[in-house]
Amino acid sequence: MLKSQETILEIDLSALKHNVTFIKSKLKSNTKFLAVVKAYAYGSDATEIAKYLEDLNVDYFAVAYTSEGIALRDAGIKTPILVLHPLPENFKVIIERCLEPSIYSQRVLNEFIAVAENLKQSNYPIHIKFNTGLNRLGFTESEIENILNSLKTSKTTKVKSLFSHLAASEDENEKEFTINQIESFERISKKMINNLGYQPLLHQSNTSGILNYPKAHFDMVRCGIGLYGFGNNPEINKSLKPIATLKTSISQIHTIKKGDSLGYNRAFIAKEQTRTATLPIGHADGINRLFGNGKGFVFINGEKAPIAGNVCMDMIMVDVTNIPCKEGDEVIVFGPEHSAENLAASINSISYELLTSVSQRVKRVFCR
Ligand SMILES: *Cc1c(COP(=O)(O)O)cnc(C)c1O
Repeated sequence: MLKSQETILEIDLSALKHNVTFIKSKLKSNTKFLAVVKAYAYGSDATEIAKYLEDLNVDYFAVAYTSEGIALRDAGIKTPILVLHPLPENFKVIIERCLEPSIYSQRVLNEFIAVAENLKQSNYPIHIKFNTGLNRLGFTESEIENILNSLKTSKTTKVKSLFSHLAASEDENEKEFTINQIESFERISKKMINNLGYQPLLHQSNTSGILNYPKAHFDMVRCGIGLYGFGNNPEINKSLKPIATLKTSISQIHTIKKGDSLGYNRAFIAKEQTRTATLPIGHADGINRLFGNGKGFVFINGEKAPIAGNVCMDMIMVDVTNIPCKEGDEVIVFGPEHSAENLAASINSISYELLTSVSQRVKRVFCR
C-alpha cells in the first residue's frame, strides 16, 4: 500500500489477475475471453490494464469508441480489438489501425464496405451486432436477408463474429426475458451461419451473463466489470477483488462552533461544535455533487466520515467529530474494504458509474 498525500487511484494488478482466473474458472476451456477495456478500463487506465491482460493471453479486447482503440494500438497492443460503437467517419482509421468494427445497421454496413473497397481490403474482419431486446444498437432478425445480400456482393469483409448484448443479465426477475434473448440469438446465428457457409464466433454474455447464464457463453464472453472486481451480486463479489482504491489525505482540520456554516452556499450549519476535515478531492475528480450533504462518505482510520455540505470542485469537507485523526492521515474513498458499489448506492448509482467517473486528473498508481 502506497502512502501518498495526493489523491491517487491505486490499481492492484494481482487482483486483476485473480479476477481473470476466477471468471475463466466459470468457462469451458475452449471459450474465448474478451476483456472489455472501454472508458479507460472502467477508470483504471486502459493501456496499463490491456498490457497486463495481453500478457495473461486474453483473446480479444473491446472498446466503445475508435479513439480508445487507437490509444491501445499506440501503446503497442497487438491483440485484436473490437470497437463496439464505431461511427462511419472513423472507418478509414479503423482499417489503418487494424481495429475491428461492430456493424450494427445496414447504413453502417454499406458505409464500411464502401470504405474497405476504397482501401482495397479483402476479408477485413467485422462483427455483426444483433438487437435481441436491449433496443440500443443492432440489426433485427428481419434484416438477415439484406445483410447476407450485402456481404455476398463484396469480398472486402469477412464476418469474424456474430454477437448480441443482454439487457438484464444481473436481474433474477428478468430471467424469462434473458432466456428469450438467448434463444433469439441462437435462432439468428443459425440462420446467418447456414447462409454464410462459414462459422464466425458467437458471443452474447457480459459479466453477469457469464455468471448467471452458462448457456449464453457460446464461443466467447465479453467481460468488463468482473475484471475490475464487481459481479452485480453480493455472493459473487466475495470471490472477486476490487482492483481500484481511491485514496486521498486530510489537508486541514477545523473545529467549528455551533451555528457556524461550512462550505459553499452555507449548506451545512453546525448543530453543535463540529470537527471537519478538508480533503483534496472534489467533483472535478469524480465525486459527484449528489454525494454532498451527508449522502456520500469516506473512511478515515477505519471510521465512516460523512461528506458535510456541498461538494466543491477540488475539495470536500467531511465530519470527523467522532473520529480520532490528524492532518496528513490517509482517507479511503473506496477500495476492497469499502466497496465502490456501496458508495455509489448512496446516490442511486452503480459501481460502473463511480469507477468510470474518476477523472483523468487523478494519478493512477499500479502495484503488482
Ligand atoms: C460494456 C459492455 C460489456 C461489458 O459489460 P460488463 O457488465 O461490464 O461485463 C459487454 N458487451 C458490451 C456490448 C458492452 O457495451
